[in-house]
Amino acid sequence: MAIAREGRTCSFCAAPGGPGTDVPLVGGLGAQVCVSCIDEFHAIVHDEERVSTARGTMPWERMTDPELLATLPQILASAEQNFAFAQEWVDMLRARHISWAEIGRVLGVSRQAAWERFARKSGDKTVIA
Ligand SMILES: [Zn+2]
Repeated sequence: MAIAREGRTCSFCAAPGGPGTDVPLVGGLGAQVCVSCIDEFHAIVHDEERVSTARGTMPWERMTDPELLATLPQILASAEQNFAFAQEWVDMLRARHISWAEIGRVLGVSRQAAWERFARKSGDKTVIA
């Protein structure tokens, strides 16, 4: 099973991107970042004054209440995108015949717990004996 590249959003600004859009995304381990965020972060890390400002306060400490509220759906969308990636990853492991016991072991849970978390969502009908 292939991991989908379509329908992703930038984990930092929530811009929709990826194949079929004008917003290229670079990703890893579920997180995605767009070119605009890469440019912005690059500018910050190469500007001592901006690095000092960024270290002084967290961005949300400067946000208004409406800005905080508007950001909440973006945070949840990013979390859901990361969980969907984890689901695709588990589906890929299962397609390679990796056992629920091995998946559970690396997650620090029982095979039953791993199966309950991921198999039902993927439609995996494997029965845990
Ligand atoms: Zn972005």
